[in-house]
Amino acid sequence: MKNSQPIIFTKEFTRQEAIPEEGIQRAVELMRSGRLHRYNTTAGEESEAALLETEFAAYVGTKYCLSCASCGSSIYLALKSAGVKPGDKVLCNAYTLAPVPGAIENAGGRTVLVEITEDYTIDLDDLDQKAGKSGAGYLLLSHMRGHITNMDRVVEICDRHGLVLIEDCAHTMGARWDNRPSGTFGKIGCYSTQTYKHMNSGEGGLLVTNDEAVIAQAILFSGSYMLYERHLSRPTTDVFEKYKKITPNFSMRMDNLRAAMLRPQLRDIETQCRRWNERYDLLEEALNKIDHIAVPKRDPREAYVGSSIQFTIDGITRQQVMAFLAECGRRGVEIKWFGWAEPNGFTSSFDSWEYIENLPELPATRKILDFMCDFRIPLTFSMKDCKTIALIIKSVVEDMT
Ligand SMILES: *Cc1c(COP(=O)(O)O)cnc(C)c1O
Repeated sequence: MKNSQPIIFTKEFTRQEAIPEEGIQRAVELMRSGRLHRYNTTAGEESEAALLETEFAAYVGTKYCLSCASCGSSIYLALKSAGVKPGDKVLCNAYTLAPVPGAIENAGGRTVLVEITEDYTIDLDDLDQKAGKSGAGYLLLSHMRGHITNMDRVVEICDRHGLVLIEDCAHTMGARWDNRPSGTFGKIGCYSTQTYKHMNSGEGGLLVTNDEAVIAQAILFSGSYMLYERHLSRPTTDVFEKYKKITPNFSMRMDNLRAAMLRPQLRDIETQCRRWNERYDLLEEALNKIDHIAVPKRDPREAYVGSSIQFTIDGITRQQVMAFLAECGRRGVEIKWFGWAEPNGFTSSFDSWEYIENLPELPATRKILDFMCDFRIPLTFSMKDCKTIALIIKSVVEDMT
């Protein structure tokens, strides 16, 4: 390969597909009407936000859904509505995105980080041990990059320690464990509709639950004023009576414009998930054929959505990992790495979250992240593009070793 002209990939890893035409039409209609606020409805009219909520709840099979300003804000609302009080400890896997510990800290909680294992999911033995030791009352489980751990064991550990389970499903919208939708294993599930997730409204979040006290508080916290009756996905109004004067308004609503863009995307979500997985499966197979590279095996019960791929590179030094990333970058393959000493772009690793009290050293997680590579698989990439990417990675590794 050394002397031949290197292949260069030229597509952008951040390029998303267009919003479905139906969503654009509806969004334009709304802009012409000026009725963008979710409570700006005429008598008997159902807002786009309220309709999206009933449709999303039906999709995941929960009783209730609330649309929010972002996934981070929905996690914050979830923690508050589940009863987190200042100083309460919240367990969380250390491999996650910054808004997750951010939401815990914002809710007044204290983040207790848990190690991960070689398959990039939470270390359940460390969880079990820390649940006992820390006195935490909550587990915020982040299915980071779509990796779902053994949820039967998670539920068992939570039950045994009396932990309230909240799932961060920013990368698992459309995914299942043992045929049950991600986000329905605990008290609350939170999803993202931010541009780089499985549905795109720029920013946005969705919170689901079967618990009427949780949804009533989440609706009030989100900024419903006394207009909660206009929600379609809600319990009877007497449930709100109990909370309406003791729940501060945090103004974290979704607007109709975003809901209008999302409703047609939700109708297509299963097709989109299949398209991601075709690309993921191709990449997984091709990457696994390269020496020094391994994509961890996934449990057959995990029905994931391969909107990004992670692999571990072994037999090389940390210095060589950096050289590998740089050369891939020169050839147009943009790989993320949680091994940088300093936070970089969207990527920051747990050891830079210095606001966490008693920030632990997590040697197992550190070592895994130092050799883990990660890239998005946008649906604007064709199958041929995926083959090209794998070919470039292969040639970079071969040139190095
Ligand atoms: C993106 C992301 C979030 C936060 O989503 P926002 O909608 O941007 O707030 C939370 N968790 C994970 C794992 C994410 O990737």
